[in-house]
Amino acid sequence: GAEKKRKKNGPARLTFEEIGGQDNAKQELREALDFLIRHEEISKFGIRPLKGILLTGPPGTGKTLMAKAAAHYTNSVFVAASGSEFVEMYVGVGAGRIRDLFKDARNRAVKESKESAIIFIDEIDVIGGKREGGQQREYDQTLNQLLTEMDGIYNSETPRILLIAATNRKEMLDPALLRPGRFDRHIQVDMPDKKGRRSILELHAKNKPLHPDVILDKVAEEAYGFSGAQLESVMNEAAIYMMRDNLTQVEDRHLAMAIDKVMMGEKTDRETNQ
Ligand code: ATP
Repeated sequence: GAEKKRKKNGPARLTFEEIGGQDNAKQELREALDFLIRHEEISKFGIRPLKGILLTGPPGTGKTLMAKAAAHYTNSVFVAASGSEFVEMYVGVGAGRIRDLFKDARNRAVKESKESAIIFIDEIDVIGGKREGGQQREYDQTLNQLLTEMDGIYNSETPRILLIAATNRKEMLDPALLRPGRFDRHIQVDMPDKKGRRSILELHAKNKPLHPDVILDKVAEEAYGFSGAQLESVMNEAAIYMMRDNLTQVEDRHLAMAIDKVMMGEKTDRETNQ
């Protein structure tokens, strides 16, 4: 809904420093992106250009942030779509949307004098799920169009195009998407460990007044199993509890209540979804 829209249309000025934890994923992604940047060498040595990177991992771990940081790192325009936008579309409409997405990326790059564009497709599994033998599915044309567009990327001229897709169900993807020259580079974006959780909490505490007694290391330990998105919520909820107490600094108990609330929220979400 509104949250997705905001996320999508927001500026892509985000840097890798603003993503907490995920050290391996960030490193792997940067290495892959250097291929886009060093395009002259790539073609000189006859190396196949990189066209697609697949980010896999659970929801709320920062895959969208990674794609935005990738656009910043490579000085590319950022164009985003979600597989769920293609649900319930009339036959042919989805394919048209894919075409427009690529056109839009190229046009914007030209307009903004950028040499490259990054197209981010979240929830790629919605359009790129395995095609069952013979069975006509409404997304087949959409997926076929995506494959066609990808095959048409040569990256020998500007604007160069790179696709980044995200999924938490890699095993569901149609093998055609994973073939060489398509999404052939996979980067796992895991749930953060304690150190990762700490640095995510730190990032989201930046604009919030913390009481000097608060030890974020301890909070990170208590927020065991939380995703980045959940940790962001914890910080936000804690500040709300602080305001309710008419205080101006976030204290340990606010954080403890916030952790409980986020944990409970997840539970009710799951229950109502069933
Ligand atoms: P989904 O699969 O649900 O789309 P995602 O992996 O793309 O999730 P993001 O949209 O990137 O997750 O993250 C959602 C929000 O959670 C971010 O806007 C940010 O506030 C917070 N967040 C998630 N991961 C991190 C992180 N590693 N560092 C800092 N903030 C994070």
